[in-house]
Amino acid sequence: MKKPNEMTIVEAARALRARSFSVRELWDACIEAIRARDGELHAFLEVFDADERAIAAAQARIEAEGDSAPLLCGIPLAVKDNILIEGKVASAASRMLANYRATYDATVVRKLKEAGALFLGRTNMDEFAMGSSTEHSAFGPTKNPRGLSRVPGGSSGGSAAAVAADLCVAALGSDTGGSIRQPAAYCGVAGLKPTYGAVSRSGLIALGSSLDQIGPLAKSVEDARILHDAIRGKDPLDSTTIPDGLYPQRTVPNTFRIGIPDFVNRTLLHSDQPLGMLAKKLTDDGHTLVDVALPTNQYALAIYYIIMPAEASTNLARLDGIRYGCAARGKTLLDDYVLSRTEGFGEEVRRRILLGTFVLSSGYIDAYYHKAQAARSLLRTEYEKAFEKVDVIMTPTALSAAFAFGEKKDPLSMYLEDLFTVTANLTGMPAISLPIGGGGQLPVGVHFTAPHQAENLLFGIGEAVGKAQGA
Ligand code: GLN
Repeated sequence: MKKPNEMTIVEAARALRARSFSVRELWDACIEAIRARDGELHAFLEVFDADERAIAAAQARIEAEGDSAPLLCGIPLAVKDNILIEGKVASAASRMLANYRATYDATVVRKLKEAGALFLGRTNMDEFAMGSSTEHSAFGPTKNPRGLSRVPGGSSGGSAAAVAADLCVAALGSDTGGSIRQPAAYCGVAGLKPTYGAVSRSGLIALGSSLDQIGPLAKSVEDARILHDAIRGKDPLDSTTIPDGLYPQRTVPNTFRIGIPDFVNRTLLHSDQPLGMLAKKLTDDGHTLVDVALPTNQYALAIYYIIMPAEASTNLARLDGIRYGCAARGKTLLDDYVLSRTEGFGEEVRRRILLGTFVLSSGYIDAYYHKAQAARSLLRTEYEKAFEKVDVIMTPTALSAAFAFGEKKDPLSMYLEDLFTVTANLTGMPAISLPIGGGGQLPVGVHFTAPHQAENLLFGIGEAVGKAQGA
């Protein structure tokens, strides 16, 4: 018998309606799991006190509305520390915002509260979501529950670890270049980066505004869909959110045409590799693999590591020691800025601010930033063309399974981690990582990209993968 905290959203919702346990008991089971395991994992930066009113309200609503109550009613979730919850600290795992308290709810949080969801606490991450291992958190790293000597991935490492270790039922993360999908792969859970504009960024501490999306980390594809459905939608507080039906609707086919890009090393498709084994099972089930050429993809990392730092340096300029957070005082106003930013920001954040400022400086903006923007449009056009002949594109999520702490000290080797994930952010297309392999070993992820607003195809292929793996 599964414990309440080990259940998926669907299972827990069903059990709550059947009165197998109460909302309070589900909450307590999560808190007990956190007490038992989070000392060693450090998935949470803070665990909230129980909100008795919210718990009682969720219980009453389930009793009154039964099956018509939202599935998320009474479900305890974990939230990445860069998503605002009114009255709670939101530090983005930075000393800069260590004491910053949110004055309003992010739109996603407001929607989840309306659905009756509960919030267990805020999860660890790389500082300002810069990184792929959660080692850049100013408050110490998170460990991977599937292997404690391994990183959980990043930057949403705390959320991924919390879901994988059953410290919560599901979690929210944010993804600018892979920060939901890569930790999902490393921890063996499902992670979705929605279409750019599908989910409001209001109340998300901005990293790269043209790339950022909030999305679910969950124990099943179905749970990812439920959470995504609850948070998505046009929002007057974020003018980049898109209305339903902006892009042509795609119907989920019975058998998928699965594109395999030319940049995926064909040895990964050998029958002794997790991806190869999956490919074989999918073709046995009637899906077809189609080679697709995406020549501009070889520049994706270079494009990303120009655009993302450019936007990050601009977004972080507001953290000047005057308006929010860390405020060190020197002799002059300039001293105040320099001291506050020196005290507040970690090494990786400073590196990206310098990079971003450089590529935007008047002597270099044409050579770097504008070139990167042009290449970004080319990349998007190439992917749109590829989707004329395939339904989804399949790659691994990351180069390997979770690496060991300290293994990627060289920043460039850490940036390489993002090889397969940054493209979806650059093109704005939705993408999902699903766990494959495992079986005693560290999990790895398979990664699917779909056309804009075709999350339904990702959930569809997710089901097909589940079936192929005998789930
Ligand atoms: N690992 C990538 C980076 O360091 C992605 C970060 C993210 O998606 N927030 O930029």
